[in-house]
Amino acid sequence: MSEHNPVALLDPDTARNLLEQAKAARTHAYAPYSRFPVGAALLARDGRVFTGVNVENASYGLANCAERTAVFKAVSEGVHEFVACAVIGPQDDVECSPCGSCRQVLFEFGPDMVIVLADGPGLKQYTVRELLPGAFESARLPRTEVPV
Ligand SMILES: [Zn+2]
Repeated sequence: MSEHNPVALLDPDTARNLLEQAKAARTHAYAPYSRFPVGAALLARDGRVFTGVNVENASYGLANCAERTAVFKAVSEGVHEFVACAVIGPQDDVECSPCGSCRQVLFEFGPDMVIVLADGPGLKQYTVRELLPGAFESARLPRTEVPV
C-alpha cells in the first residue's frame, strides 16, 4: 500500500464485514474445473452490496471472475459508483488478488475504489489505481463520451 495514498481506506470493521460477505458469496461459486472458488462483495456508494462469484464453463475460456460478476450485476441494475470490493479465494487467510482483467473492469468504475483482501488473520487494502498503474482509461480514447 502506498504511503502517499490520498484515498480513504475503509475502517477495519467495514472492511472485515465486506470480506465476510465475499466469503458467504463464495459458497455459490461455480468452479467445478479449477476447484478454486472465489467470492466478491462490491460496496456501492449508495450502501448496497453486490456479491459475485466465479462462474466457469466446460469451454474454459468463457469463465467469469467473481469481481466482474459483481460489477456486471451492479451495473445491470443501474449502479455505477463503488467504494470498495472485497475478494476472497478458496483459503480464508490467503490473499486472492484480482486478475488483470478484473483490475481493468474495476478501474472503469472506480480508480480509487478500495480492494479488500485477506492477509492471514488480518486484511489488506489497496486502491485499484495502485493495483493497475498506467491503466487504459476512457480519456485515452479519441471520443470520450462515456454514458453514465
Ligand atoms: Zn479476474
